[in-house]
Parts: sequence; structure tokens; C-alpha cells
Amino acid sequence: MTTSEQTPTQISVHDHIAKRGVKFPAPAIPYAEGHGDNAQTLVFAATEEPFAIVPNADGEAVEAAVAKARAAFDHGPWRKMLATERAAIMRRISDLVRENLEELASLQTLETSIPLQQTRGMHVGRTAENFTFFADVLASLAGESYEQSGRYLSVVTREPVGVALLISPWNAPLVLASMKLAAAISLGNSVIIKPSEYAPLAVLRLIELVHEAGVPEGVVQVICGPGAGAGQALVRHPDVDVVGFIGGTETGKRILADAAQSLKKVGLELGGKSANIILASADLERAIDGSLLGVFAGNGEQCLAGSRIMVEDSIADEFIEKFSARVRGMIVGDPFDDATEIGPMAFAAHYHRLLEFAAKAQDDESYRVLAGAGAASGFDKGYYFAPTAVEAADNMTDLCQQELFGPFVTIQRIKDLDDGLRRANESDFGLAAYVWTDHVPSMMKARRELRAGTIWVNTPMTRDLRSPFGGYKQSGIGRDGLPGSIELFTEEKTTLIPQDPLALPKLGQH
Ligand code: NAD
Repeated sequence: MTTSEQTPTQISVHDHIAKRGVKFPAPAIPYAEGHGDNAQTLVFAATEEPFAIVPNADGEAVEAAVAKARAAFDHGPWRKMLATERAAIMRRISDLVRENLEELASLQTLETSIPLQQTRGMHVGRTAENFTFFADVLASLAGESYEQSGRYLSVVTREPVGVALLISPWNAPLVLASMKLAAAISLGNSVIIKPSEYAPLAVLRLIELVHEAGVPEGVVQVICGPGAGAGQALVRHPDVDVVGFIGGTETGKRILADAAQSLKKVGLELGGKSANIILASADLERAIDGSLLGVFAGNGEQCLAGSRIMVEDSIADEFIEKFSARVRGMIVGDPFDDATEIGPMAFAAHYHRLLEFAAKAQDDESYRVLAGAGAASGFDKGYYFAPTAVEAADNMTDLCQQELFGPFVTIQRIKDLDDGLRRANESDFGLAAYVWTDHVPSMMKARRELRAGTIWVNTPMTRDLRSPFGGYKQSGIGRDGLPGSIELFTEEKTTLIPQDPLALPKLGQH
């Protein structure tokens, strides 16, 4: 680990694997040279050592998975099972996730380099909760009925859509894939998950647990491989009925276009560049604590990061000084070390992209570097990026407009709330926004005016699974949580029944 004064430790990935007793879920195997053809090699970001190989699914495997999912949906027991039976299996999955906490957390830390403290403390727990949450939802699902002038009874019911394709990103695979999975299967669908090629291990293990809990054959399958291969083939497949996608905005646009060929239902949870407005009326210490968490949790690789800070002029100098000192003090290190606050970036290409943004911050006079902006010092190996804070002269600069997706925050000075609101909305994204103030009218105005799907007031990110989560503008289409997941993973059916036998006109009888 390292702050500017400390010496880093670099432990081989094989020692971590041995010490934690990690076994790879099928079809992953330990890395060996020569096995990498048509397969993804997973690399431990802290030491750049390859450690596992995951074969890419070919066209035949995609066809077989879709056929199996189709058969499970059309002829299998899952969708016809009593809701109480399905709910019981969902609760068993949740229990198994908790029983295998250490293993799931280790797998996710190996493949993402998110600190183990966080995968163990937050990600696995939330994964378990996703299944109990949707088990509870099942118990309370209700239909609607209408009486038409005393003549007809119209009954509105919901049915599963069919074969659901769930595509997930690498930054929080367990939490994100399990949220969509829990929603889709609780409602009776069959599911194919396409995890990120960079981080499939924890999801593969989760699906082993799903089967162990009693979900029948064919109802849940995983297809591994790159987006442009297996991912695209699945999106285009005519027997896939609905796509739940979580990932980048540009990928989301491609998926929407591909899904349009067979008019599938599509839910898109996409990128963000969330504003974080700090007013002079805020509790400054709490705003600093919350803003740090809002940007730097999960190595800063989060869709909902409050990565565009806007601070009111009258407190800007004090905020910038205190905030930057804390950023410089963050502990960067091996993600398995309990003291680590920021692990290495998940993979090489992502790390190099961040270094390019850092060079821009150093070279362009629109920016003033306050902390970091380059490789973290003291490491011989690994994709270690120094936690970075940069003051930006204008909201329309690249670093304030592009999603950087790392421990990298920009800070702008604003005249007042109105100035902050104008800049906050000056973005292609609209996933979330944060505001810090103890002045109730300002709070209310911010809540009304911010164009984003979730507004966090005086708190870093937090979720209530019952409430919708999703994006305005290019941050997405549709919502997770309720009622959005029900909307995505069910079809509505209306049945009309006359309440008394009808006296119908007799066509053709003269
Ligand atoms: P990505 O878009 O590169 O990949 C996401 C998934 O899509 C991967 O599984 C990938 O293999 C697959 N994919 C890529 N091209 C495809 C195609 N043509 N057809 C089918 N599948 C394809 O995103 P990423 O780099 O894995 O994740 C980071 C992005 O995800 C960020 O933009 C982040 O904001 C976003 N994200 C959004 C949310 C949210 O809830 N809104 C949550 C987490 C991450």
C-alpha cells in the first residue's frame, strides 16, 4: 500500500489464490500458456500476472443456450410454479450467497481489483439482498380488474416475457447482474447472462449457487465472451425476448439498434457524469466525507460517481484545500489488503485511458491539478492510478463532460445554486445528482430542477430497492427497482369476460 510516504507491498496473485483457497468456477481454468486461443485471459491488475482463462462461447454455444432457455420457458416447470415455491428458492439462493461470502468476494476482487473490504462488506451482501427483495415482491404482486358498466369484467394480469438476456459490466458484476437476475427469474422468465469478458468469475460462481438452490435446468445460463461476439449474437437472436443491459452509453446505443431488428423489449442502464453541488449552507465536513465516498468508493469505477463537484464560491478555497488533502492521503494498494482504499484500475486499457486524461489535466491550461493526475508512485507493476482531483475552469471542458470512470474528480467554483443547477444539467448524462445544503428551499429547488433519475441530498450514494433507479437523457431507458423491473420483465395481458351471457346480433341470419 502507499500514500506518498509509504512503501507498497506487491504480493503474487498465486499467493492470494492459495492463501484464500480460491477455486475457479467452470468453465474458467487456471492460466497456462498456450490455452489462450479464443478465450479471455484474466489478469490481476495489482501485479499484471495472468491467472485464469475463460473460453469464449462460439456460435454453436449461443444457439444451444438460447434453445435450452426457450425450452425451459415454453415447457419447463419454473414459470408455472407457485409463487411461494419460487420465492422459497430465491431465499435459498440468498442464503447460499451469504454462506459463500468469502469466496464470492475473493473472486470479485481478483477480477476487478475493487478492495476486498468493499466486495466483502457491501457487494456480496447486496447480492444476497437482491434475491430476498424479489422473493418479497413475488408475495405482493397484484393484478387489476375493471368493471365496465356492470357488463364486462376486464382482468389485467402480468406474465413473464420469455427468454431474458442480461448483459452486465465489469465494475460491480455481482450486485448488478444479480439485481436483474433476481427480478427476471422471480417473475418466471428464463435467463441468459452475458457477464463482462473482464469479470465473469464471480457471476459464474453465483450461477452455480443458483442451481444448487434448486432453480431448474435451463432457467439460468451464463454465456462468456466479448460483447462484439457472443453479446451481439445474443442480442440479435430472434428467440431472445427481452434485453436488460447495464454498461456504457455507446454500447447501449448499439444494443438498442440490434434489438430493434426483432423489436425486443430493452432496458438500458448506462453511463453517468453526476454533478455534486456543495452550497455554503452545507455541513462542510459531512459534505467532504460524503463527496469523497461518492467519487472514490469502488475505485471510482462507478456509473453513479459524483465526479463533477461544484462548490459555492464563498467556501470554495476551504473545501478545495481540505478535500485535496484527503485525496492525497488516500491509501492506494493491493486490493486484498484491509487498509487499501483504492486498488489498481481493473485492466490495462482502462488504466491507459485514465493516464491520457491525466496528461490532459497536466497540459491543458483549463485545469489546475490539486492531487494525483498520473500513475500512483512506488509501484513496479500494476495499473495503479493516483487518486486525482482537478480544478476545471469551465463545465464544457472534456474532463467535465466525459465519463472518466476512475478515481478522478473535477471541481468547479459556482456563484450560487442557480449557477450550479445550470451547469449540472449541461451534460449528455442524467443518471444521478448530489446536493449538500441545510437550507430547505435550496434543497427543494435542486430536487425540482436537476435533470437526473436519482437525487441524493446530504448523502453519498445509497439505494432503496423499492424505488426506481435509472437515467434521464443518455444515461438510460427504463428503471431498475420497482415498478421498472416488473415493467421490463413482464407482459401485461387484458382478459375481458361478460358478467352475464350476451345477447349478440346474429350476423348472416336474416
Ligand atoms: P461496456 O458497454 O463496454 O460493456 C458492458 C457489457 O456489454 C459487457 O458485458 C460487454 O461485453 C457487453 N457488450 C459490449 N458490446 C456489446 C454488443 N455490441 N452487444 C452486446 N453486448 C455488448 O461497459 P463496461 O466498460 O463493461 O462498463 C462500464 C460502463 O457501464 C460505464 O459507462 C458505466 O457508467 C456503465 N454502468 C452503468 C450502470 C447503471 O446502472 N447505469 C451501472 C454500472 C456501470
